[in-house]
Amino acid sequence: MFFDTDFKKHAEEIYDTKEWPTDPLFYVCCPSKTDPTVAPEGSENLFILIPIAPGIADTEFIRKKYLEMVVSRMEKTCKTSIKENIIVQESYCIKEFKEEYNSYKGNAYGLANTYMQTAVLKPSMLNPKIKNMVYAGQLTVPGPGLPPAIISGQIASALLLKQLKKT
Ligand SMILES: Cc1cc2nc3c(=O)[nH]c(=O)nc-3n(C[C@H](O)[C@H](O)[C@H](O)COP(=O)(O)OP(=O)(O)OC[C@H]3O[C@@H](n4cnc5c(N)ncnc54)[C@H](O)[C@@H]3O)c2cc1C
Repeated sequence: MFFDTDFKKHAEEIYDTKEWPTDPLFYVCCPSKTDPTVAPEGSENLFILIPIAPGIADTEFIRKKYLEMVVSRMEKTCKTSIKENIIVQESYCIKEFKEEYNSYKGNAYGLANTYMQTAVLKPSMLNPKIKNMVYAGQLTVPGPGLPPAIISGQIASALLLKQLKKT
């Protein structure tokens, strides 16, 4: 976790001003450290995630700028050269989340945890028009993340059984 810059400012740039973060916090995962199948022998697989606001501008120029920014910080902290050793590079941003996952404004984590979208104020899992149609997944209850998305399946099935008993 690179929580080495101003958290408050980054949060404001996500939730309030909705712009690319000036000096982003980010997280890095190196799955090849525990799973040798995710990179060729002698290489590493690095995954970097920068949280951003949904729906903002997404261009190749911006992606390059942010990759350069975060990799430079990683190099400085880890005291090792990364940039010159990159063999394969792929980036996923708003465009891909929209095109490949049909995701609203290209969001990656479902509904934002704002007051008006929390607990009972979350959208209903029951379709208001189609009888016996129930939604599951990270956009429903309890929310984003793999465990909650799986739990939502249990909640959806319980809701459906209740609906079916009524009919
Ligand atoms: C970069 C990243 C890192 C994450 N890290 C973690 C983590 O460490 N731990 C954790 O618990 N969670 C993590 N999450 C969150 C977790 O991945 C999600 O909450 C979870 O996958 C949501 O599952 P889901 O089934 O609701 O939706 P999804 O997995 O998004 O599945 C929805 C599917 O529906 C498809 N679809 C969309 N529209 C249509 C349509 N009209 N017709 C047919 N199919 C359609 C999409 O293509 C997609 O395959 C991470 C998410 C991201 C993006």
